[in-house]
Amino acid sequence: MKQHDTDIIIAGGGLAGATLALALSRSLPQLRVTVVETFPLSPDALPDSYQPSYDARSTALAWGSRLIFEELGLWQRLAEHATPIRHIHVSDRGHFGATRLNAADHQQEALGYVADNRWMGLCLMRELLQTNVVWQAPAEVTDMQPIADGVRVTLGADDGERQLTAQCLVVADGGRSGLREKLGFRVNEQAYNQHALIANVSTSQSHNYTAYERFTDAGPMALLPHGSPTRAGNTAALVWTLDSEALDELLALSDDDKCQRLQQRFGWRLGRFARIGECSHYPLTLKTVDESVRPGVVLVGNAAHALHPVAGQGFNLALRGLMVLVEQLRLATGQQQPLGSLSVLKAYQNRHRQDWQQTVRFSDSLIQLFGTNLPLVTGARDAGLMGLDLLPGAKRWFARQAMGLGGRRAEIRTPGTTATERSSDE
Ligand SMILES: Cc1cc2nc3c(=O)[nH]c(=O)nc-3n(C[C@H](O)[C@H](O)[C@H](O)COP(=O)(O)OP(=O)(O)OC[C@H]3O[C@@H](n4cnc5c(N)ncnc54)[C@H](O)[C@@H]3O)c2cc1C
Repeated sequence: MKQHDTDIIIAGGGLAGATLALALSRSLPQLRVTVVETFPLSPDALPDSYQPSYDARSTALAWGSRLIFEELGLWQRLAEHATPIRHIHVSDRGHFGATRLNAADHQQEALGYVADNRWMGLCLMRELLQTNVVWQAPAEVTDMQPIADGVRVTLGADDGERQLTAQCLVVADGGRSGLREKLGFRVNEQAYNQHALIANVSTSQSHNYTAYERFTDAGPMALLPHGSPTRAGNTAALVWTLDSEALDELLALSDDDKCQRLQQRFGWRLGRFARIGECSHYPLTLKTVDESVRPGVVLVGNAAHALHPVAGQGFNLALRGLMVLVEQLRLATGQQQPLGSLSVLKAYQNRHRQDWQQTVRFSDSLIQLFGTNLPLVTGARDAGLMGLDLLPGAKRWFARQAMGLGGRRAEIRTPGTTATERSSDE
């Protein structure tokens, strides 16, 4: 397949695109992979040392994602600044139902981890610079045309336009994917009419490695343990969902008043909210596609499915999908099939479909169930939370979803190891 300029072009070097590039370089080092990213990347700009920032945005990584990063040889580095989640506490403000998950009950050291996005990006970049992945940045994929056994991709950069041919284009340009639209993929959109406010907060009590998911009549919120991996500190990463009016009102308050408002909403499980860092906010829409592949093209990451962040599933789901894609491309390479052929990409889609449908249902049903105050529904969810707490089978199912082990996961293999596909239900 050397008639093309490169084998795979990844449009977007965010968390999904960069992780895919690393996974491909590990599993299929003979492939030529080019990442095109709008933002500039200068190896000289990568800092030698890293200090977690009070204002950084972070991601809850499920236990299953740790296993994937281990297979990619990145976990040891990521773990330097990844705070373990040893307990999850789910509650409903003003109602008595609650459920608690403990890592120890599942014979795990943690249910998941919280890592700053900037730290994950830095780890990925440092590792990618040691591989043969080619990075085109700053540049933008602006168009794509199908050609025989592949695609012709147009790149726009400061020095003008150029074209590159490849076997396959992977679209990883995020939730507002311009390419997905341009290429005519049909998107299902469901606006939640809510925004996620993100900030780090200081509390008077230690988080004791507990992630709190709290549903309130004004929307769900999550407080995730943040800071040192080895010493349970007093910082938590807040994800607070609010409607537009409440968001505007909150943003206009002083930091002390924001802390007070948070205290009213969340309660005192973490003691007093003493300080709130820089607040950023994102409009929340569930975006999914029914079909994520076309001849020569595949959508991944947020370009394929952007979820409500409160259940912390978006990147974890993306990661599992990336591993299935790499596995399918590895099989195709072994059978000398063109990597962009529809049968190869459809095989990926079919293997990943059950996982993404289940994960979307899981996080969306949490929002729908807890987003109403109808008495019958609140009664049912209290009973549901208590039931989860009391029924070991239901609780185990819930824990597996939270740990990112609910769907199937393809094991990534480095060259020379034997093929096995592992079902997480084993
Ligand atoms: C508030 C919030 C909290 C979240 N919390 C969690 C969590 O706790 N756990 C979890 O699992 N998930 C979480 N998520 C989801 C997670 O952030 C995303 O799944 C993840 O960032 C997806 O990354 P991505 O690479 O697909 O997209 P992005 O991060 O958006 O990256 C897309 C990249 O593509 C580049 N780009 C765009 N257009 C082009 C183009 N035409 N050509 C080249 N490059 C282009 C952009 O510059 C960008 O770098 C959260 C999301 C939000 C909004």
